Amino acid sequence: MTILAVSIEEPGRVALIQRPRKELWPGAVRVRVQACGICTLEKRIYSGALNLGYPLVAGHEVGGVIEEVGPMVLGDFRPGQRVALDLLTRCGQCHWCRRGHTNRCENRFKGRNGMLGGLSQEVVVPAREVFVLPETVPPALATLAEPLADCLHCLARAGLNHQDPVAVVGLGVMGQLHMALLSHLGHVTAPQTQALDLGLGLLGKGGTLVTYSSYGPSERLSLDLNRLHYNEISLTGTEGRTELDFERAVGLLAAGTLDLRALVSRTYPAQEAALAFVAAQDPDLYRVVVTF
Ligand SMILES: [Zn+2]
Ligand SMILES: [Zn+2]
Repeated sequence: MTILAVSIEEPGRVALIQRPRKELWPGAVRVRVQACGICTLEKRIYSGALNLGYPLVAGHEVGGVIEEVGPMVLGDFRPGQRVALDLLTRCGQCHWCRRGHTNRCENRFKGRNGMLGGLSQEVVVPAREVFVLPETVPPALATLAEPLADCLHCLARAGLNHQDPVAVVGLGVMGQLHMALLSHLGHVTAPQTQALDLGLGLLGKGGTLVTYSSYGPSERLSLDLNRLHYNEISLTGTEGRTELDFERAVGLLAAGTLDLRALVSRTYPAQEAALAFVAAQDPDLYRVVVTF
């Protein structure tokens, strides 16, 4: 038996393919993918800016339904449950995993399912990557659990105190998700559309700059070290999410406290995935989601 998948064949070319159905191994769950977002990573693979080898079935922002639960799955998982997937292998054995920083896992791309493959009719993943959501969360919104978890991780890196003012620089999907979280947490936010220098310029005494974005090719920052010194400015990056971040993101989606509907700009059926990838390049759109 084969399943349908969306493959990036080469830069600029997307094809629908059939590929063999994966077997269900002990500890794994089979999930029917209902929706998968096209994130910056997929856009870069599609444009050729990032080469992870072609052809590739990408996709890591997944909402779906449990189809089958493998033997030795001990959690409360049942067929029919709506889920969001944290498609990132964490080995649980390396230095970073053991310290709880599973987002920095040294083996995260070496696991059985790597981190992509979500643009597919179904996936088989370790149960620990499956997070149950209530029926009230539609699949297209469930795809936002992953970026939302990344934003929660980012905010934790900022070490915010209650009511600290925050400027969000950059107002794409991730900027908007940060804004939604920050207002939910009661912070006054100042959205800005310009670049990193502006963020640095805005920092007051004791301020923290968290650079969220991955910039693709390496970029350099010029920084007045005296300002850093005299103002005790902190500068940090943020990488991915831990399971705790994901759990929290799913909790927020489940509670329905954040209205994120405006962030899914368009949905396309898998048969029109080529159009979806073209639309995803449009800077005026937020997330473009492929449905199965
Ligand atoms: Zn993403
Ligand atoms: Zn690890």
